Amino acid sequence: MTQKQRRIYRKAYALLEHHTPLRADCGVLCGRACCRGDGETGMLLFPGEETPFRVLKKNGRRIAVCGGRCRRADRPLGCRLFPFLPQLEESGRVRVRLDSRGFGLCPLVRRAEAAAFSHRFLHRVRRVGKRLLRDRESRAFLAALWRESEESDALRRQFPKNNLK
Ligand code: SF4
Ligand code: SF4
Repeated sequence: MTQKQRRIYRKAYALLEHHTPLRADCGVLCGRACCRGDGETGMLLFPGEETPFRVLKKNGRRIAVCGGRCRRADRPLGCRLFPFLPQLEESGRVRVRLDSRGFGLCPLVRRAEAAAFSHRFLHRVRRVGKRLLRDRESRAFLAALWRESEESDALRRQFPKNNLK
């Protein structure tokens, strides 16, 4: 991890320490579906991001394998952002959008129109996005996640009958 990344992640963790997508605990909607990993799955780590969890390397990426339990302060950045991602638009503006890769897992992605998202949370994700995009590796990583999110969205639109309810 570079010094710059350390500073960015420290601030990002702090910004998203207490704020969550809904003002209430969304875990009651789904039984904490995004935390039900096994020994081979977990949360993607940002470039250089450190974690106390076991790290699995897969396809050139690092995954924190938490086994579905963590101290709140140890959550990787991906867990804090989920199910949103910041995106850099061509205009240079940072937008915050739902990550379609979470469609099968997260009711907030599937039923976004019914969710009363916390404006404070979204604002903070945007602030985190602005910081992440200052780092070349994090910017490239976010861009790759966006491509995957958009591919997943496009695929789902081609097979609407298979969409989970
Ligand atoms: S899967 Fe979605 S709704 Fe469920 S706990 Fe995770 S973020 Fe909240
Ligand atoms: S680190 Fe914590 S928040 Fe993230 S998936 Fe594991 S249990 Fe859930």
